[in-house]
Amino acid sequence: MDNEQVQSPQAGEQPTSANARRVAVIGGGISGLAAAHRLLELEPGCRLTLFEKSSRLGGVLRTVHEDGYQVEQSADNFITTVPWGVDLCRRLGLADQLIQTNAAFRRTFVVRKRRLYRLPDGFLMMAPTQMWPLAVTPILSPAGKLRAAMEYFLPARRDDDDESMADFVRRRLGREVFERLVEPLVSAVYAADMERLSVMATLPRFRKMERDHGSLIRAMRRQMADRRKAAKSNPAGAAGLEKQSGARYSMFVTLRDGLTSMVDAIASRLPPGSVRGNTSIRALERNGDGGWSLVTEDDARQTFDAVILATPSHEAARLLRPLDSSASERLAAIEHSGTAIVSVAYDRSQIAHPLDGMGAVVPSIERSPLLACSFSSQKYAHRAPEGKLLLRVFAGGARAPEMAEMEDERLCRLLLEELGHILGLRGKPIYTNVAHWPGTMPQYHVGHRERVAAIEKGVSALANLELAGNAYHGVGIPNCVHSGERAAERVLGYVPPEGDMSAEADS
Ligand SMILES: Cc1cc2nc3c(=O)[nH]c(=O)nc-3n(C[C@H](O)[C@H](O)[C@H](O)COP(=O)(O)OP(=O)(O)OC[C@H]3O[C@@H](n4cnc5c(N)ncnc54)[C@H](O)[C@@H]3O)c2cc1C
Repeated sequence: MDNEQVQSPQAGEQPTSANARRVAVIGGGISGLAAAHRLLELEPGCRLTLFEKSSRLGGVLRTVHEDGYQVEQSADNFITTVPWGVDLCRRLGLADQLIQTNAAFRRTFVVRKRRLYRLPDGFLMMAPTQMWPLAVTPILSPAGKLRAAMEYFLPARRDDDDESMADFVRRRLGREVFERLVEPLVSAVYAADMERLSVMATLPRFRKMERDHGSLIRAMRRQMADRRKAAKSNPAGAAGLEKQSGARYSMFVTLRDGLTSMVDAIASRLPPGSVRGNTSIRALERNGDGGWSLVTEDDARQTFDAVILATPSHEAARLLRPLDSSASERLAAIEHSGTAIVSVAYDRSQIAHPLDGMGAVVPSIERSPLLACSFSSQKYAHRAPEGKLLLRVFAGGARAPEMAEMEDERLCRLLLEELGHILGLRGKPIYTNVAHWPGTMPQYHVGHRERVAAIEKGVSALANLELAGNAYHGVGIPNCVHSGERAAERVLGYVPPEGDMSAEADS
């Protein structure tokens, strides 16, 4: 077994009282782990069992230490504009291991005709905070810039109906800003088809800006002005997320020794005997007393008072089919896309480009095999030995789903040939690591919010059962943590204090 914390079904028992609540968590990814951790935080005597079908905890999170490189095979950082990731790290005693993006390289490039251009300063995912960098960028034509500037004067949509991200951005900022800036940035994060991705389920704050301020540009300018004012009146608190401690974080952070430190820290707090690795739950059955029986692949049966289902949604769909067929169908209808990540290292002398940024994104209209490339060892410290550079090259997504499963040699050849033209690479990489992630990224298509509301309504009728995971209210690590923690709180009937509830957050 490759994870020390995963115990076999025969491992030791938890020292708990006979009438303590028995809760099962199905799925040992970050959502299930956060749920397990929160259960024990709120009710230390709770009799927890976490079932994980594979031999290791962490789900898709995987950090590899090899040949002096620290490679994140999937997620490599998380956002700090929502509190749940940083908060959990703090409670796990990992606050001093959180590291920020390298301040010298906080810029992103966009590829155009195999050349890298700086994303205009102040362009935040979907809208500009500053007009001058947009006015002078060579990425857009004069007509494209004029169309973007007109956003300020366009009438605003005030309703709450959903639309695709593509429709929203084209409607507000025009086709060029969509194709050249927003599409590559958003595709790199969500591996999604922007013509189907829901703006209301993915980045609702931009629709809120339109509704509240009449224009994205106006809203962004107002936000920047408010921030400047706040910085003047309270220099310590304005820029930071960490209101309680006063510490400040960049928009993204990671853990010094990799994101699996979070997994290991939770695993080390779970009671002996509570984790059942290599154990897949085959069926979920309702008991007469309102509790649940879980049936494993070898037909063993165990009873629980409550269950948290923290598997991917297609697996939740399978388990719920006999219990609520319409919730199950809706769960099964949540599509997933996949990616492949090729991590490669080069000696500094092998790369012509200065790599003075965090990475590059590639618009779909470039028809490139690359989705994005993160300059991993520039973005964060401790990723590569002195003088070497570690890059993470992304392929696949909704754009090219077949690439998520492409055979390693062909994948590397295709990606590195293209990257060679863009970055001026000489010779072969000195280190290579390939990770395939087919069908792992839930796609929040138009109508996702309504679908999830209907699923949750159905599941709420099944007492003592809660859903958690990345398919519902956000794919990012902090949102997964939040979904696991909220599921644990609901199971225990815990009501978080006012102000601690889920804010309308981007996912
Ligand atoms: C390539 C990639 C890059 C990403 N990059 C980022 C990033 O940079 N930042 C960020 O914030 N997020 C990122 N994400 C998203 C984030 O990492 C995931 O959404 C999150 O880790 C998912 O956690 P989870 O616990 O919900 O699901 P999973 O990690 O999928 O865990 C589910 C677990 O359930 C187990 N399971 C399934 N069925 C059963 C069963 N029947 N019985 C028992 N166990 C079962 C599985 O084995 C698995 O371990 C990325 C995701 C991917 C794939």
